[in-house]
Amino acid sequence: MSKRDYYEILGVSRTVTEVELKGSFRKLAMQHHPDKNPGDKQAEIKFKELNEAYQVLSDGQKRAAYDRYGHQAFENGGGAGGPADMSDFMSDIFESFFGEGRGRGPRGANARERGADLRYNLEIGLEDAYAGKNETIRVPTSMACEVCSGTGAKAGSKSRQCPTCGGHGRVRASQGFFSVERTCPTCNGRGEIIDDPCTGCQGAGRVTRERTLSVNIPAGVEDGTRIRLAGEGEAGLRGGPAGDLYIFLSIKPHAIFQRDGADLFCRVPIGLTSAALGGEIEVPTLNGEKARVKIPEGTQTGKQFRLKAKGMSVLRSREMGDLYIQVLVETPQKLTARQRELLMEFERESSGATHPETAGFFGRVKDFLGGLGGAA
Ligand SMILES: [Zn+2]
Ligand SMILES: [Zn+2]
Repeated sequence: MSKRDYYEILGVSRTVTEVELKGSFRKLAMQHHPDKNPGDKQAEIKFKELNEAYQVLSDGQKRAAYDRYGHQAFENGGGAGGPADMSDFMSDIFESFFGEGRGRGPRGANARERGADLRYNLEIGLEDAYAGKNETIRVPTSMACEVCSGTGAKAGSKSRQCPTCGGHGRVRASQGFFSVERTCPTCNGRGEIIDDPCTGCQGAGRVTRERTLSVNIPAGVEDGTRIRLAGEGEAGLRGGPAGDLYIFLSIKPHAIFQRDGADLFCRVPIGLTSAALGGEIEVPTLNGEKARVKIPEGTQTGKQFRLKAKGMSVLRSREMGDLYIQVLVETPQKLTARQRELLMEFERESSGATHPETAGFFGRVKDFLGGLGGAA
């Protein structure tokens, strides 16, 4: 039987954020928890499946491995059950993909090592998330040394096998009844000794350089999205493949708009008279244009108006979310004597017809108090 996709099990998309993932897992785990479904074999299987999927997707490195290799990432490395130690299964992945066939034994002098994955935090504006953007970033990263091509040895010289460990990189030491394996102290696990180190990298084989990379940010990205740049991570050791670079996107809060998925919200203050008399207001849209909203006579504070397709762009889609304009009626302050006079005059003309909410509320209050009096 083929295994189900982890994202599918958790009912989330492949671009799910850590927070959303956790929420979805919690909800489903509660639902299928064995305590809640006693004797239900299906629920038990489901619960195990959920746990396994969450264990992988909630761990950045494991998730990256899963995104790349699918279930295969965990098939070779693990013992019984879940994924084994990360470095173990990474080396197994490495083998199955590059056919090194070096087994899981000691690391020879030629043992290649995959470079580490790197994380880069990138903050963008809501406008950039709306329109998409090509962002240029500068990433300090270690690369194979150009002078020695990553060998660490000076040109013309050669590294030799470490005499302490015989090139294995690890040594065994006896402690009483036990035999303990540890990293070789002579070569620090490299398995080789460099007598004449390269001057470009002091024998490390790697140098730190700042690289300029171009990141394509698609329109409609969500806060917390990860973008993987394959092979742009740290350089591998001894000719091993480079790691990946993960761009973690965060979106800055906007001064005017709030986002909720594909929709945008904007609160717009309007004057008391505009709200009472009605009219038209001009509101901004995220693409820098303006839209007009008709305010009907007698509009109350908090009223929302929907502008169709004026919201956020949707990832990998031509669709657009909506823009919701919420009007807030502003009560006038610091009145002049004349304004005060006009409002007092207005007040004298007010009635239950002009203020139905007020009239209705105080009517209900009267009934309520009257009811209490009757019961007493
Ligand atoms: Zn070098
Ligand atoms: Zn050694």
